[in-house]
Parts: sequence; structure tokens; C-alpha cells
Amino acid sequence: AKELGKNRYVHYDSDLDARAVEQASLAAALSHALERDELRLLYQPVVDLPSGRVVGVEALVRWHHPSDGMVSPVRFIPVAERTGQIVPLGEWILRTSCYQAADWYRRYGDEAPARMSVNVSARQLLEPGFPQTVASILAETGLPPDRLTVEITETAVFGGGRAVEAVAAIHALGVAIALDDFGTGHSSLGLLRTCPVDVLKVDKSFVDGVTGTVEQEAIVTSIIEIAQALGLRAIAEGVETGAQADRLHDLGYRLAQGFHFAKPLGSAEIESLFTTNEEG
Ligand code: C2E
Ligand code: CA
Ligand code: CA
Ligand code: CA
Repeated sequence: AKELGKNRYVHYDSDLDARAVEQASLAAALSHALERDELRLLYQPVVDLPSGRVVGVEALVRWHHPSDGMVSPVRFIPVAERTGQIVPLGEWILRTSCYQAADWYRRYGDEAPARMSVNVSARQLLEPGFPQTVASILAETGLPPDRLTVEITETAVFGGGRAVEAVAAIHALGVAIALDDFGTGHSSLGLLRTCPVDVLKVDKSFVDGVTGTVEQEAIVTSIIEIAQALGLRAIAEGVETGAQADRLHDLGYRLAQGFHFAKPLGSAEIESLFTTNEEG
């Protein structure tokens, strides 16, 4: 048993080493990703349930690693947060998505999605001067502030302090604030008192329950009631079936996002979903 224990220990240890090596090599490759033009943004539609119109998009980053192929943001974003690389990377994401949204607005006018939603990590919020960076990117791209939404997680603003101050400063620019993965964090309801929030993004794990048991559905129902009572928009995330979409609509949800409507798409693909109005 002692021997087994020792082997296990060695095993565990070498797994840790392997992970550290993997992360270090990801971080090294990531440091060249921007200059080598390996990052792309995809855009996933946010759909108005009553009309089916695309009223917003969420920018989601993709990395084409030179030898590993496509690397999921679930793998490289946490690494970039730990190393601080998320700061330049996140600024590129924000600038690129704002240029894209401004371009759509110029070319498609009111047929363009009204809002571009961009994920911002805790590390970015804590970077001194981040709200000014947002302001200068809006000025540079000409995107009206009310066409931008910044998505933050509960964890990022948990405990208040500088992160909440940064969110308040961004909100004061006229940018909307969305609370991502709503309900999965530490203090969802308390946060609504301390941090300016305009949108609740209802996590997929709750949306999955909408066609499940009465108890599961009660959570989704409670969230829309909170949103309505506080005058917030709610977006149901990860909607995969028509039955879920119908049920959400019946429960009072207006906005939804998920593979049932569309996967994250390249800019050309997504433009075909806007009503064409090119000459305007
Ligand atoms: P998230 O912000 O919660 O984004 C939603 C994720 O759910 C996306 O995964 C999206 O592709 C996926 N998704 C959308 N609809 C469905 C559905 O119907 N079913 C299922 N199973 N999944 C669906 P993705 O693009 O792999 O991104 C994963 C996470 O990585 C994001 O979660 C976000 O936390 C992070 N991330 C992605 N892009 C960025 C970025 O530009 N900046 C930062 N800071 N984080 C990002
Ligand atoms: Ca998000
Ligand atoms: Ca989410
Ligand atoms: Ca998520």
C-alpha cells in the first residue's frame, strides 16, 4: 500500500509538471499570437424571441495555434489571465469587436445588431486605466457607447473594491454592463446592489432545466422575475432546442442565445443574417 501511495504521489507530481510545462508553452506561444495574427473573433447572435431578429452579438475569441490547431478559450484565457497577457489580448479583442460593430452600424444602420457584447476578465478590470482604454477605443472606432456591452463575471466583481469602481466608470460612459453566467457565482443578488448592472445572462446550467422538473424551471422563472422587478434585461444562454426557446418565451424571456439559433459565426457569415440594406 505504501508503494502504491508513493507511485500515486509520483504520478500526481508528474501530472502537475506536465500541466505546468503545457501552460508555459501555451503562454510562450500566446506571446506571439497577436503579432502573428493568429487570433480571430467569432460572433454569436443574441435573438429577440418574439420576432426572431438578431438584436445583438457576443464576440468570442478563437486562437489558431501554429502547431496545435484551434485552441479553445477555455484553455488559453485562464493562462492569459495568470500571466497578464489578457491585458494586451483583451484590448485587441475590444478594439477589433468595436471596429466590427461600428462598421456594421455604418453599413447596415438599424438592421445591424443593436449591441456588441465583449467579455472582459477580472484582470483587465483591475488594470489601472482600463475605463479610459474603453473610452478611447469608443472614440477611435466611432462606436456609440450604447451599442457596446461589457460582460463581466460575478467572481470578477465579488468583494467590491477596484473592480466595481472600474465597472462603474465604464457604465458612466454609457456602456451597458452584463453579468455573465448569472447565478453560478458567489453573491449574485448582493452584487445587484453594489455594482451597476443592466443585463443578466442566465447560465446554460439553469436554461437546461427549463424543460425539466418544476423545481428546475422555478430557478429560471425566479431570475426573469428579479430582472423584471429591477428593470434589467435577461438573456437566456445556451438554448439548444426549440422546446427550450418556446418555454422561455412563455415564461417572459425576450432574449436568448444558443446553438438552437446559431453557433458563433465569422463576420461574413453573420452578415447574411442581417436584413440587407447595404446601400443605406
Ligand atoms: P461565455 O462567455 O459564457 O460564452 C459562452 C460559451 O458558450 C461560448 O463558448 C459559446 O460558444 C458557448 N455556447 C453558446 N451557445 C451554446 C449552446 O447552445 N450550447 C453549448 N454547449 N455551448 C454554447 P466559447 O466560445 O468556447 O467560450 C468559452 C468561454 O471562454 C466564454 O464563456 C468566456 O468565459 C471565455 N471567452 C471567450 N471569448 C473570450 C474573450 O474574448 N475574452 C474573455 N475574457 N473571455 C472569453
Ligand atoms: Ca460571455
Ligand atoms: Ca456565459
Ligand atoms: Ca460560461
